[in-house]
Amino acid sequence: MPLKKYGKCIWMDGAMIDPAEATASVMSHVVHYGSGFFEGIRAYKTDKGAAIFRLDEHMARLYRSTRMYYVEIPYDCQTLTQAVIDTVKANSLDSCYIRPFVFLGTGWSALMPDSNLPIHTAISCWNLPSPSDNPKPIAAKVASYRRVSPSMTPMQAKAASNYMNSMLLKHEAKHNGFDEAIALDAQGRVSEASASNIFFVWGNEIHTPSLDCSILNGITRQSVIEFARDLGYKVVERGIARDELYTADEIFLTGTAAEIQSIGSVDRIAVGNGNYPVAAELTKLFLEVASGKSEKYAHWLTYVNA
Ligand code: PMP
Repeated sequence: MPLKKYGKCIWMDGAMIDPAEATASVMSHVVHYGSGFFEGIRAYKTDKGAAIFRLDEHMARLYRSTRMYYVEIPYDCQTLTQAVIDTVKANSLDSCYIRPFVFLGTGWSALMPDSNLPIHTAISCWNLPSPSDNPKPIAAKVASYRRVSPSMTPMQAKAASNYMNSMLLKHEAKHNGFDEAIALDAQGRVSEASASNIFFVWGNEIHTPSLDCSILNGITRQSVIEFARDLGYKVVERGIARDELYTADEIFLTGTAAEIQSIGSVDRIAVGNGNYPVAAELTKLFLEVASGKSEKYAHWLTYVNA
């Protein structure tokens, strides 16, 4: 099968190689036990070529994710950050989704990896359309599976194994005719969607689950919180009850892939009056920043051709 979708080249373990060559053994630890850690980053088109959105924050989170699992990336952060820039450049894309991935390799004899088990790093990027180009509200469903509790596994780590839970959430939603799932945490509070954070609007207030609600601290979430405060909204991070899903004026999701995605209904109950002015206002500012049109947030962009 051609690997065209994954671009012209992938950076793997220090070299820029053909995607068809960027392979791992079926006996890799990651294949058997899910020991992979990754980031999802976007580069946006600007007047000065591709610019990567909040690259430093994404790379810092990648190192934090691996540290929580006692995995040490064999490159320093500066080297790997440069490798991300080089990969986007080498693929000649003016906007794309970027996926740095760290995983445990082969040579293990038991679950517990010994210190000489190879740790591999791969960086790929590909074209991913921006949902903001064609915004339309989606139908969401409260999932029957809960989001995993951080007392069981660190949910602040962007670990591949967490995505088995996400996959079940998404599968249940899709299987029942919805677009997306909203998971509750182990205590029954609203947590997040399968791969994005959730926000609620009531009048001039924007609320989002706090970090103790089994969420990944999304970089888009952090950006949207800053944008909302800039625009004069009061932003509150707290535990949110399930029934609040049915009382909000607006609900939207945030994520690197999803950007800012309005929810039109939850469990077939319409959200608000069907208008999404707050999500639209935030999306406008987000796209201005991402496309290099904001001075205030210029430091959030890394220009590939700088
Ligand atoms: N939660 C989960 C589980 C995710 O996978 C993602 C996507 N990385 C997010 C939230 C949103 O995070 P970010 O804004 O950093 O992409």
